[in-house]
Amino acid sequence: MNPEATELLLAGAQELGLDVAPVLDQFAALLVLLQEGNARFNLTALKTERDIVLKHFVDSLTCLGGGHLDGNHQVVDLGTGAGFPTLPLALMRAELQFTPVDSTRKKVEFVRATAEALGLQNVRPVAGRAETLTRQPEHRDRYDRVVVRAVAALPILAELALPFLRPGGLLVAQKGPISPEELRAGQRAAGELGGRVTEVEAFTLPVLGDARTLVVVEKLRDTPDRYPRREGVPNQQPLF
Ligand code: SAM
Repeated sequence: MNPEATELLLAGAQELGLDVAPVLDQFAALLVLLQEGNARFNLTALKTERDIVLKHFVDSLTCLGGGHLDGNHQVVDLGTGAGFPTLPLALMRAELQFTPVDSTRKKVEFVRATAEALGLQNVRPVAGRAETLTRQPEHRDRYDRVVVRAVAALPILAELALPFLRPGGLLVAQKGPISPEELRAGQRAAGELGGRVTEVEAFTLPVLGDARTLVVVEKLRDTPDRYPRREGVPNQQPLF
């Protein structure tokens, strides 16, 4: 990692109250693996070291804000893509057990190989769509947390994520700015699915200052069996 990118990673994380120095070598290795993976599979639009560090690494670490992931939790990363936010979070928090999920097999294989190369024991990727995985007993009502970054609007996320959670579990959605309409629709969807929006925290991304929002939804009771609807329907016909 070049000196500017290293400095930005240290400074960006520090703004979040995090010290990445103990795992700096692994972040540097992740950067190389991502660039190599990109050359082969076109995994992410971000190509420069500066962009990857700020918009993938530091941006992913903002999910730790508010302490919602503190503890020994089983965590699904819904729509992990090339491994975000899972890989940066797993480097920082060995006590969290991650199940990154994505419908695109080549991305899941990349995350699996990358986690292995980084020596991460706490990442167990799964290929499949959320609508189908949450119909399987090993994935339904099982997890303590779902994290999600850049996947869909809040009502869609609620339908895809809440079935993974046990009652008492939390969906932690890291998003850009959220409109009042999306929030209202998300609140209604959360209610329909057995949850409640408990927190909406606006903040800015370290160094860049881009607007972000952390939305937390608590699952209060079992999600009705009719949800999620079949593959593709939550996206095509959001509940609200
Ligand atoms: N979370 C990553 C990030 O922040 O870089 C990737 C975001 S990418 C824009 C969205 C990802 O969600 C894609 O890789 C897509 O395959 C996955 N995805 C979308 N809907 C899904 C579903 N219903 N089940 C599983 N994965 C899904």
